[in-house]
Amino acid sequence: MDLDTTLEELSWIPRPRILALRRLGIACVRDLLTHYPRRYENRVEFPSFPRDQTVDPLCLCGDVVKTRLMRFGGRKIFEAVLEESSAHALSQPLTCRWFNLHYIQKVIATGQRLIIFGRVKRKGLRLVVDHPECEVIEDDEEILIHFRRITPIYPATEGLSQRGLRGLIFRLLEQVDVASAEVPLPDSLRNGDDEDALRKIHFPESDEQLREVRAHLVLGEFFRMQMQIAAARAENSARVGCRHQTRGLLSAKFIAALPFGLTRAQQRVLNEIKHDLRLASPMNRLLQGDVGSGKTVVAIAAMLLAVESGSQATLMAPTQILAEQHYAVLRNWLDPLGIRIALRTGARQEDNAPLPLFARANSDSGSARVSLGSAGCQPAVSGSLPGTTSLSGITETSCHRRRLPYFERPWAKYAITFATRNRRQLSAKARDIVLEAILRWKDRRYELYATCVMPDHVHFLIEPMVERNDEAGNSIFFSLSKILHSIKSFTANQINKVERSTAPVWENESFDRMIRSESDLQEKFEYITRNPWEAGVVTDKEDYTWVWYPEAEFDKDRFAAGCRERQAGSLPSPAEAHTDRDTTPQIIVGTHALLYENVTFSNLGLAVIDEQHKFGVAQRAKLTAREPAPDVLVMTATPIPRTLTMTIYGDLEVSTIDEIPRGRGEIITHLLPAEKLGEAITFLRQELNAGRQAYIIYPLIDESEKLDAKAAAKEFEQWQGRLRPFRCELLHGRVVSPDKQAIVQRFRAGETHALISTTVIEVGVDIPNAAVMLIENAERFGLSQLHQLRGRIGRGVHTSHCWLVSSDKNPETMTKLALLEKTTNGFEIAEADWELRGPGDLLGTAQSGLPELKLGDLRRDAALMRKARQAALELLENDPGLDRPENQRFRDLIVERQGQTFSHVS
Ligand code: ADP
Ligand code: MG
Repeated sequence: MDLDTTLEELSWIPRPRILALRRLGIACVRDLLTHYPRRYENRVEFPSFPRDQTVDPLCLCGDVVKTRLMRFGGRKIFEAVLEESSAHALSQPLTCRWFNLHYIQKVIATGQRLIIFGRVKRKGLRLVVDHPECEVIEDDEEILIHFRRITPIYPATEGLSQRGLRGLIFRLLEQVDVASAEVPLPDSLRNGDDEDALRKIHFPESDEQLREVRAHLVLGEFFRMQMQIAAARAENSARVGCRHQTRGLLSAKFIAALPFGLTRAQQRVLNEIKHDLRLASPMNRLLQGDVGSGKTVVAIAAMLLAVESGSQATLMAPTQILAEQHYAVLRNWLDPLGIRIALRTGARQEDNAPLPLFARANSDSGSARVSLGSAGCQPAVSGSLPGTTSLSGITETSCHRRRLPYFERPWAKYAITFATRNRRQLSAKARDIVLEAILRWKDRRYELYATCVMPDHVHFLIEPMVERNDEAGNSIFFSLSKILHSIKSFTANQINKVERSTAPVWENESFDRMIRSESDLQEKFEYITRNPWEAGVVTDKEDYTWVWYPEAEFDKDRFAAGCRERQAGSLPSPAEAHTDRDTTPQIIVGTHALLYENVTFSNLGLAVIDEQHKFGVAQRAKLTAREPAPDVLVMTATPIPRTLTMTIYGDLEVSTIDEIPRGRGEIITHLLPAEKLGEAITFLRQELNAGRQAYIIYPLIDESEKLDAKAAAKEFEQWQGRLRPFRCELLHGRVVSPDKQAIVQRFRAGETHALISTTVIEVGVDIPNAAVMLIENAERFGLSQLHQLRGRIGRGVHTSHCWLVSSDKNPETMTKLALLEKTTNGFEIAEADWELRGPGDLLGTAQSGLPELKLGDLRRDAALMRKARQAALELLENDPGLDRPENQRFRDLIVERQGQTFSHVS
């Protein structure tokens, strides 16, 4: 028998027990032996019965002198009166009570000796213990297993008694070589009594021995985990990455143009990042910093380092609102530097109209349809080229905004580029087909300003036309996706027919850019019409047939003749590869949408993930699993306790911004019982009068919770009334994206004064004039979440106020919330939150990287975790391949059994 032997193979275990164990997830010997006791009872010596009630539960031994069953209405109460075995004049009997527990009356009878565990309470003259855990002492041969020792008590399961389970484990321990179950430890982690630890953890001889073997086994558990983390880390640094060697001119320019200087902490952290970026091995860094500490600026500077070295950078945010904000911030700061930035966000499920660009052409597979689009967040400036007429007379108001994905502005012009798959070269014939297709829908679906079909990609400049009007007379425009889809699928078919091929012709995605001004239009126009010459596909003296623009009289004969004369397309010159990049975004901002395969990066050098705790580890892995490995910077504003950091982010280097920029207004937090809401409203009105803005967070906690639209509307109406005449708007997860964006925009611009919102604004939103926040039913949020929410204010120079309104009078709730009154230090709050709710909640539901621990406790055993980590890092540093004879025994730890590896933690 070894550790992997299944329980079924052990004939002496009764079948029903095996089934009961299954319910606990116990299938093999190893599982059973690591089913550790929940607590222990010292059954060597029992304390005498107490005279009064007790705070802590006690383990007592007594004789059953009387039992009775009583009925009260539908309730059954079973009572057993216990007397101390060596009862004396002063000792008082104890009454054990069980409510509605049918089986217990069959188990307990007068005359038995009983061991109970529970809290003693005084009920009038009697001392009672309600629902004690209990065990009947029977004089059988197993008495040595269950009594007269420190006895293990296991997590219970239905259909399996403590005695049954204890007996099984006892017997198993006699048959197995327990040493083989142990995690090998390096000498630096061994001390004290650790032989036979697995046996002793179940049946310890003394409390002291128990402490020692527990520490030993916990170390084993932690060491295994840290070995895997360290190995993942080593594996990562062995990946081929990109070296970003630059003088840092762009980022210096950016920093110089900021209206503030970087804090010392920001500077330090940026230097750490710079250092990593220069190395050939990929960076893997966690940037921690409390809300408002200025992480975004650091991220931008880092991205500019990558961009300057010729790579692409990406910034991924967990919400649409935050992605939009980042995009606007980047545009604001980087447009002057001439950086090309794109936004790629996924459609919300509510958007049934596919977003214009990148919509999967075929969704017949039935798989989820992922549509990605690029957004322009500024209004299109209408412009026209000489020789083209702009369709005036139709005003924007006649277009139903809601029907349009927000980036498809009416009468907007777009520069669009799409490329062939795998740089497939288009023959002359193929290029004819493409040009013809583009001209085919001219003046029917779009106005065409210019196009050029290059050997492996296509540019064109268009203005989509109205497709139809809906019942209400609103104009519905041809979407970019529809336009592109027709061109691509039509040409792909024809090209493959003439070339007798079946290979895909086009890349799925394309890039589009909304034209924002006349000069922009001119510039794009020139770029496209000169592209073949600039790119060196043809020489200055040569003609290139596949360029079209309105001035070029479309001469069918000449076109046809040109086509006949042309031979197969030439290879792109290096010059073209160069100019080609000019339309590729240098920085791509987006949401989870970035993870889907049809957003391709041309040359991803740095991936920044904002608010990492909102993403799962798998998502991080997905974004960064490419060759060469991009540098990765993950940012989080949920400060997490150190032990947790080195567990779930153990493979990352950590940088911390531990300084809040100066000149920030203070945040004052007030706890307010719900019935005094009036006070807060008066205060709110004063602040609004003084020109500040406010967030009112209403308690719809989980965005996936079905939103009762009526309730939200009622909430909103109420607040509108309370704050009249100030303008309020309502924001929640179900507001469709274009509207959501507009609402945030109006609030940012100060057009609305109060935003009644769910937690959709929880992370990242930065609006400095918002200085008041009122959170209703604050007790329903976790501390860290409240801290995050509160981080939306206190971002400007004004003193900010956060009102935590709660109708919950529970003292525990009050103590919890009072902590927020006392401190704005995210670390303190995180520690407290961890204590209250455990690590899972602290990290948010998305964070799934926590490995299961059977014995260790990340909080309580923090010191052991540090030791284990140290040992693992040292070991792998000195012997990365674990090649030394004495280290070979550790190899198994990093090649783990299926389902147990967490190299995906990286
Ligand atoms: P967070 O770390 O919470 O993501 P942000 O990056 O959103 O914080 O920064 C919060 C605000 O502070 C932004 O408006 C930003 O422009 C500003 N800021 C960043 N760094 C500084 C600084 N060194 N001095 C003053 N303001 C700064
Ligand atoms: Mg942020």
